Formats: sequence, C-alpha cells, structure tokens
Amino acid sequence: MTPYQQRRLFLASQLGPGDVVIVPTAPEKSRNRDSSFPYRFDSYFYYLTGFEEPNSVLLLNDKGETVLFCQPKDLDKEIWDGYRLGPENAPQMLNVDRAFSIEQIDEIAPAFLGHHECIWYPFAGPSEIKPRLELWLGEIAKKARSGVRVPHTLKNACLILDEMRLIKDHHEIEIMKKACHISALAHIKAMQFCAQSIQQKKDLKEYHLEAELLHEFRRHGSEYPAYTSIVAAGANACVLHYRADKAPIVSGDLVLIDAGCELHGYASDITRTFPANGRFTGPQRDIYACVLAAQEAAVDATRANRAFNDPHDASVRVLCEGLLSLGLLNANEHGTVEDIIEHRKYTPFYMHRTSHWLGMDVHDCGAYTKGTTSQDSTPQAPWSDLDPLKTATLSAPQSRRLEVGMVLTLEPGLYIRPSPSVPEKYWNIGVRIEDDALLTPEGVELISRDVPVQISDIEHLMS
Ligand code: MG
Ligand code: ZN
Repeated sequence: MTPYQQRRLFLASQLGPGDVVIVPTAPEKSRNRDSSFPYRFDSYFYYLTGFEEPNSVLLLNDKGETVLFCQPKDLDKEIWDGYRLGPENAPQMLNVDRAFSIEQIDEIAPAFLGHHECIWYPFAGPSEIKPRLELWLGEIAKKARSGVRVPHTLKNACLILDEMRLIKDHHEIEIMKKACHISALAHIKAMQFCAQSIQQKKDLKEYHLEAELLHEFRRHGSEYPAYTSIVAAGANACVLHYRADKAPIVSGDLVLIDAGCELHGYASDITRTFPANGRFTGPQRDIYACVLAAQEAAVDATRANRAFNDPHDASVRVLCEGLLSLGLLNANEHGTVEDIIEHRKYTPFYMHRTSHWLGMDVHDCGAYTKGTTSQDSTPQAPWSDLDPLKTATLSAPQSRRLEVGMVLTLEPGLYIRPSPSVPEKYWNIGVRIEDDALLTPEGVELISRDVPVQISDIEHLMS
C-alpha cells in the first residue's frame, strides 16, 4: 500500500458514518499577462494523493471509497502544456476507486455528496472550492423532496489533516532528510563562494550568494526554494524579512543566509550566519557564541513530552544571560535574568519565536496549543494558526506536548540596531542560527547539520 493510500484510509477512519471529505488542489496562478507562477499543488491534496496536476479534486467517504476528478486527456492541450494522466489511468496509477474528468464535476459531485450527511473540506485549503460546494449543495437541496438526503453539516477537514501532517511518517522523514541535506550543501557552497570572492577582491553582492544557493538546490533535484531566500549582508541581517537583494558584501561583514529547498513537496529551513571573509571579529564572535548557546539550550529542551514552548523558553533564558554579560542590557537598569524574562526586556534584540512546525509548508500546519486535537469538532481557536514567529501570546500552560515524529525548527537570534544604550562594537550585528529538529524515540535528531555551525568549523570551511 502506498503512503497516500495509508493516509486516506486513516483519514476515512477518523470520519463519522455518513461523512465525506472534499480535498481540492491549488489553482494555477497568473503572474502577469500570459505567464503563470510555477505551479505548486495544494499540500493537503498532495499529502493524500501524491498527484501533482492542477484542476483536480479528491472525494473520500467514511468507507474509504475514493473518487478523483482530474484533467481529461487532450492531445491538443498536452502538446502545449504537457502530459496529463487522465481519468482512464488514474485508478491504476493513484489507487483511487473511480476517476472522472474535472469537466464533469458539477454533474457527478452532487450525486456523490447527496448520499452523505456531513461534508468535510479543508477550510485553510484553496478557497475556490467554497462557491462550488454551495452550488452543489443547492442542486442537492432541490432534489430533497424526491427523497435525496441533503448534507446538513460542513466541517473543517484541517482539524483531522493538520494533526496527521504534524506527525511525519517514514516516507516524509526520508524526503525531509534529503531536502535538508541539499540545503546544507547549498549553504556550504554559498559560504565558500563568499570567502573566495572576498579573497580574490571580486565584486560581491547578496544576489551572487543567492545564485549559488539556487544552483545547488536545483542541481540536486529540488523543484523550488521552499520560501524566498534571505541573504543579508551587515546591517541588513537585522531586517527579519529581508530578501536577497543587491547590497555589496564586504570584508568584515557578517552575512546571514536563511534559505532552504523544497524537495518533492517538503520544505527545509536553515539559517547560518558567517563572516564574509571567513574570520569572526571579537564582537561578532561574542554575539554568535551567545546565539549558539541559546540554540544548544533549545536542542536540549526538544524532547518528546516536553512542551512546544520549552525550547523557546530555554533559548530566551540563555539569550538574556548573554545580553547581561555582554552589556547590551545592564543589571542596574533591567534587573536579574528573571526580571528581564518576566518584563520581556529582551525583545529589542530578540523579537520572534524560536520554533515553528516544518513539513510540506515551511510554516507547517498543526496547532501549537492544547485542546485542538483531531477529535474536536469545534473550530480551531483563532490564535492557534497565527504565525508563531510573530506572536508572543502563547503562554506556557497552553503549549502542547512534543511527540515523536514531529519536526520543528530551532532558530534563536539576536539583532542589534544602533542605539546609544548599546556598546557600539555590537551595532548592526544580526545573528540567527536555525536547524531542523526531528523528534525521535531516543531524543532529537538535527537533520540539517550537514552544514557546520560551530565557530571553528565555519572558519575552517571558509579558509
Ligand atoms: Mg528560516
Ligand atoms: Zn524557520
């Protein structure tokens, strides 16, 4: 049985009698005039089918019966846009029970849905399905007088699917490890290219390093970057959502690269910060060592049964100790480490959270708090799907427990903007160190560590 079949059967087992799930894939998106963005399938749809073509919809009922709607074979279209699997081949290739042309969906879907009571669909999935669903429900309702059962409840399939996707299966873990390996090679390539270019006194811009990253991703079979790469030289590292732009990289700068490839639908997410010329200065070393210690504390706190917030809290504590000992905060004004943590005095230097789930989406689905399990039929609490890196509202008691098979990032940082209250030698230093952690029965495995992180290892690599 394929992993996709296993997931569909598990999903079916979570449904009530008379329930059906609709999972559409993503629409194609126009970029400008006749050119489109590169097509990316919907993550929920791909998770259940492994099918990459647009214009497809999966139906699945509580008995595990599946219907797929997909693009019909069409020689003319295939000459222009490429091969289509077609409904004739779909049952054999994708192990679905029946398949029809997507052009027939408005006729066939109402008949299929009409025999069910509750319809699930991913509320966080492609929104285009909603008006279609309303159309079909209207069709079914018209036939109610002739004895057709009308579905009476709509439920959010994300409640089940998010919990499933949160625990990675063997198939997913293998791909994620490969994705991380490719990204690690790309980071190494960019670091070495950077040091060489500085040494040879070549003109070097941020986008030159981005080009090295993209070349390495693609060379190893990655389809896309998992997100827009950040390559930030010097002070730009203090801009959290900076892109790889055109600023020059010069000797003496630190360079922050946050980049990861997507491989077969799975993201990797790695950040390294390194000296452009291959040697850390004293102040750069101070800040880097503090962030690295904070990450080590986070790694130690990343274990099954620990709270999701524990790695963050562990990182914050170490960062606060560092801010005090380096003179970025001072005890007279800001008090003890406890005071600094309690009153969040560290936020001018550390304003994001330490972890997010990682999977098919770089900020992957799944609740960060308790009480939103797959068994709940109530909608997710509104705060549970906020970007955890932006919010600081999740307090420790609500944080959910970590489980074997989860993958999350560990990414503490310090970002020091010029300010009269900060020693000048630290101005404009921005450091983040990010690795991807898989929870295992033995503890935790950092699957992104094929690129070095220790100061001496980075300097050796770049020499
Ligand atoms: Mg990142
Ligand atoms: Zn991240």
